[in-house]
Amino acid sequence: MAENVTILIPTALRQFAGGKEQVQLAGGTVGEVLGQLTGKYADLKKHLYNDSGQLRSFVNIYLNDEDIRYLRKDATPVASGDTVTIVPSIAGGAATMEDVELSADEIGRYSRHLIMPEVTLAGQKKLKQARVLLVGAGGLGAPLGLYLTAAGVGHIGIVDADVVDSSNLQRQVTYTTEDIGTSKLEAAKRRLIALNPYTDITTFETRLSSENALDIFKDYDIIVDGTDNFPTRYLVNDACVLLGKPNVYGSIFRFEGQVSIFYAKEGPCYRCLYPEPPPPGLVPSCAEGGVLGVLPGIVGALQAAETLKLILGIGDPLVGRLLRFDALKMQFREYKLRKDPTCPICGEHTTIHHLIDYDEFCGITPGPEVNLEAQWEIAPRELKQRLDTGEHIVIVDVREPHEWALGTIKEPDVRFIPLGDVPARMHELDSADEIVLQCRSGVRSAKALGILKDAGFRKLKNLTGGILAWSDDVDPSLPKY
Ligand SMILES: [Zn+2]
Repeated sequence: MAENVTILIPTALRQFAGGKEQVQLAGGTVGEVLGQLTGKYADLKKHLYNDSGQLRSFVNIYLNDEDIRYLRKDATPVASGDTVTIVPSIAGGAATMEDVELSADEIGRYSRHLIMPEVTLAGQKKLKQARVLLVGAGGLGAPLGLYLTAAGVGHIGIVDADVVDSSNLQRQVTYTTEDIGTSKLEAAKRRLIALNPYTDITTFETRLSSENALDIFKDYDIIVDGTDNFPTRYLVNDACVLLGKPNVYGSIFRFEGQVSIFYAKEGPCYRCLYPEPPPPGLVPSCAEGGVLGVLPGIVGALQAAETLKLILGIGDPLVGRLLRFDALKMQFREYKLRKDPTCPICGEHTTIHHLIDYDEFCGITPGPEVNLEAQWEIAPRELKQRLDTGEHIVIVDVREPHEWALGTIKEPDVRFIPLGDVPARMHELDSADEIVLQCRSGVRSAKALGILKDAGFRKLKNLTGGILAWSDDVDPSLPKY
């Protein structure tokens, strides 16, 4: 008879065990110790055992590191100092899960998992039963899709509405040159099924919105956020909190990445960390600021590792911790995150009970990215026509010098003044000239236009859509980036 056995109570069941994280009990076998526990906390009994006294199928009991099903089950002897851990499967959906079997072919395929004591056949079955939704099939979605499919996650959903573009291939390793121009979901599904035919891939070829998010999310156990914009990030967070699902978060910019798990049942949510989004335009996206090709590979692989751990119920998940990775310094740092009691969606007095308009919340007005009045805009074709008639128009390229090297509009009077230098160098421009401001996509040039307008310039136009639109509509030889 062991006098001193520690029983670790999982968060979800602590409310039935007087709020205790662990309990010290005595007994000769695992069954006896658990009997003591449920004798002491009667409410816990019906959560652990079914009516016929069998352990429920979604609860696993470990003695130290070993699943007791592979020892002597309830009759497994315990010694003083041993730890008995109760591990319910996550996300609550497990109670209705059917048991699955692995074929001989699958056993061979997953053999490097099956020989790990932390995974075993039982863990591989959990992976096969798991339902994981990837929001986004871009840079983060690539390693996520590949590794989760390879690992044997049985059901993967992917939400995306994009088409493969050549500028994606520098980092989105799911796709090949041949896929340019095809739907990302079509290409991703083909690639993932080729990798593992035992994974069932469901595609949602749509932009995630307040109208469809809850409906898409409800059938998945874990949501993985691989998006690149703030409205979708808050939408994913809020939908996960409302449905009580974990949100495996990752974000990337240039050389830096962030990873965490936002799971309001057990820790903070994204709004606890960032109650409000930054004003539009303050934080550039990857499309504007760039990203090192391998960075989403590293961050997405970290998200994939956290997802597998959640499914297997092993290790310490990144709940309540934010991991920051700096590829230039090659350094990881970790920050503690706390649940905000005043959080409007997961705090003590919630004010958000349904999904809202996230574009409006993030200050993004519908339509063009910059809300310039039409009189200040000029379309590429119209500019070209006017230049071709010999009209003298000064074109001011407000991009950064390293972008000029990628090519610019081939017209006689093009001047280079980076946006940041416009206030100091506007004297180089003559307010009597017709001036067209241009940048990559038309956002920075619209800011430059505002600066010149405030300084009294009036004969100003913004090249709508920037160099990207010029390349589409006027000069395809000008590279897009
Ligand atoms: Zn919160």
